[in-house]
Amino acid sequence: KERHYMMMIRARIPGGVMDADQYLQFDKLSETYGNNTMRITTRQTFQLHGILKSNLKETIKSINDVLITTLGGCGDQVRNIVTSGAPHEGPFYDKVRKDLLAVVDGTSAKTNAYHEIWLDGEKLDLNEEETVEPMYGKTYLPRKFKIAFTYEGDNSADIYSNDIGIVAHRDGDDVAGYTLVIGGGMGRIASDKKTHPQLALPLCFVRPDELVKTCQTIVTVQRDHGNREVRKFARMKYLIEARGIEWFREQVEERLGYKLTPPRELKWETSHDPLGRIEGVNGKVHLGLFIENGRIRDTEELPLKSLLRDIVTTYRPGVRMTTQQNLILTGLTAEQVSEIEQKLRGAGFPLAGEHSPVLLNSMACPAMPTCGLAIAESERALPSVVRELEGALKEIGLADEPISVRMTGCANGCARPYIAQIGFVGRIIGKYDVFLGANVAGTRLNQLYKEMVPVAELVPTLVPVLKMFKAERQHGESFGDFCARVGIEALQERFTPVS
Ligand code: SF4
Repeated sequence: KERHYMMMIRARIPGGVMDADQYLQFDKLSETYGNNTMRITTRQTFQLHGILKSNLKETIKSINDVLITTLGGCGDQVRNIVTSGAPHEGPFYDKVRKDLLAVVDGTSAKTNAYHEIWLDGEKLDLNEEETVEPMYGKTYLPRKFKIAFTYEGDNSADIYSNDIGIVAHRDGDDVAGYTLVIGGGMGRIASDKKTHPQLALPLCFVRPDELVKTCQTIVTVQRDHGNREVRKFARMKYLIEARGIEWFREQVEERLGYKLTPPRELKWETSHDPLGRIEGVNGKVHLGLFIENGRIRDTEELPLKSLLRDIVTTYRPGVRMTTQQNLILTGLTAEQVSEIEQKLRGAGFPLAGEHSPVLLNSMACPAMPTCGLAIAESERALPSVVRELEGALKEIGLADEPISVRMTGCANGCARPYIAQIGFVGRIIGKYDVFLGANVAGTRLNQLYKEMVPVAELVPTLVPVLKMFKAERQHGESFGDFCARVGIEALQERFTPVS
């Protein structure tokens, strides 16, 4: 008798953009085959948890029925390509979207095996020339590979945490080109100091027509030189660390056959998801909803999943996920948004403006019980920690401070805790390492402040630092900038109890 293996399925939804039917299909599948919850991930896609192995094929087939694939959701290849969740419209944004889809197409596996295995496609002839992957070859990449797009000024997608971050520069209604930063990645192993998070480094500026080829070339340098012996060093960041960015640039230039143009300087104005009412063009209005930790489910207090199903069925908006695990309903009229807001409020769902800034800037990875790598709680632990922190901030007089707080259930860092102003990273059950000092723009990593702090002590550990911040901050200084200015070591010395 076959054992009842339970699986997680992750779709690949470029830029997190779906239509109403696609959203409703995930809603249905999560009920039919999953655990009746949907999880928006930090890579702007849906994960369905609790799928029995015997239902895998039907679930994957049903996802493909609405023109979404799971190919590239996981594996040692280019994963779901993410972008800012802001529902910008107009010729410039349409062109960036087109280029994003071209990069998706140019970096996707061409395999027929997926269709054969999951979609009852034609049997694959392994001897045929076209079954060899043109970019991935027979061995794919040493490790997963992440790409993010954004527009100049908007770092809500945390582009520096990706293997390639692509920043669109504007020239009126046209795209002037893209600056590429490379070699970012969050993952580390707590017991191995040689592993570490890394922010991507500037590589070059490319014209739109050079973008796909340049991305493919970067991928092939990692394919050919990335570490395939020691998996913990297999991400591209370690290749760049070992050989240097200049060596990497030369490799790309040699393969392309021309010199790369230097990158443009990047400036960031926001790193927040657009939530609440967003005015679009031609009278359209979008509505950004804060979804705590990206989990869409019905509870006794709040039937959120049913509510969203009803709203999407009735108003048929576009549905956009963000890399901060939120949801944006797009293409509505002002009247429709008012009706939706009324429905949400009536059911007890707080609109974005009714949440505290610290809650709006909080994010947890799924961790237990659905992530096999989790060594501590995250999604189930963060809500009460954040509420405790809300209370502390209120008492200290910092209730309006938009401090980002991110928690993960292991050092892999899926919720990007190393670029949060406060990062909690699970070490063992019930204990977390606390990181402080990243900046708002997401261009500076935080540093380890305290190790192995019990979950009940997380907020009390932060309170003295927050009080000091309140008393000694400079004008307009964020909590992360304050911690970095004072210095993590100085904070440790000041707040370590003398035994
Ligand atoms: Fe990622 Fe670790 Fe969280 Fe699992 S527990 S989702 S691997 S950070």
